[in-house]
Amino acid sequence: MTSIVVLGSTNMDLVAYVPRAPARGETVTGRAFRTIPGGKGANQAVAAARAGAEVAMIGAVGADDFGPRLRANLEHCAVDTDLLRTTDGPSGTAHIVVDDEGGNAIVVVPGANATVTSLTHGDEALIGTADALLLQLELPLSVVAEGARTARRLGVRTVLTPSPAQALPAELLATTDLLVPNEHEATALTGLSDPVAAARALLRDVPEVVVTLGASGCLYAARGAEPVTVPAPRVRAVDTTAAGDTFVGALAVALGEGRPVPEALAWSQAAAALSVQREGASTSMPYRTEIEAAFL
Ligand code: ADP
Repeated sequence: MTSIVVLGSTNMDLVAYVPRAPARGETVTGRAFRTIPGGKGANQAVAAARAGAEVAMIGAVGADDFGPRLRANLEHCAVDTDLLRTTDGPSGTAHIVVDDEGGNAIVVVPGANATVTSLTHGDEALIGTADALLLQLELPLSVVAEGARTARRLGVRTVLTPSPAQALPAELLATTDLLVPNEHEATALTGLSDPVAAARALLRDVPEVVVTLGASGCLYAARGAEPVTVPAPRVRAVDTTAAGDTFVGALAVALGEGRPVPEALAWSQAAAALSVQREGASTSMPYRTEIEAAFL
């Protein structure tokens, strides 16, 4: 079985559904409210577990009511949480207002995620057992860089999702094997709006790049080869939340199993296409049997 370690965030998404978002100083009455376990790290962990890997998560939840729920959700999804810390103070939260047109406004408060500032010997030992380490940017940049550096030293593949978009330290890029930005993140990182040009520019820093292009699929670029676009399956999307996380989780599994890159990309896009046809984040992520059925 492929073994994946995720060093990343766990958040409780607090979602209010409203006719329209309130202006400053205004109060509006919402239609509904949901609490949904999320965070890019946790979402990628669930995606990889459902896609068929053995997955462990390094990160932190808070000592509030959300902490045990976030941990239990990961365990329910077969993600090992032995190295997920519980710290004083609140869990990470995302305060999301979704309006009737499907638009949203989001405030993320890192909470416990901000307390993950260094790796323990246990974390390092766990990373050393993995086929891949998945990283995003919802933990302090210094620990993300430490994770990538550790994985590189131990010969473990590093897969970085540069979200939320921000400037990346040269050291982090230098220890990234595969960078997976979406179109907006690729533009933010390079200043280039054309994904092919952006991918080529990113290849100066990392050996392999996949730019995800939403319904248009993804663009794969590696040093010494022409970039290729792989179309996504044509499906009716109802909710694209966490499509990128589903894609990355499945991609890490497929590559860990030794599938050739074109097949791994098609397989991961089959997984992401299944997720956009269902509502929610981790709740929408497909199981391996579903991915295999859609892929055939
Ligand atoms: P993110 O969720 O990070 O913004 P994207 O929107 O680029 O990332 O989506 C990631 C992947 O999910 C795409 O490369 C594609 O395979 C799949 N995907 C996203 N939206 C759709 C869609 N409407 N139809 C089919 N596949 C989709």
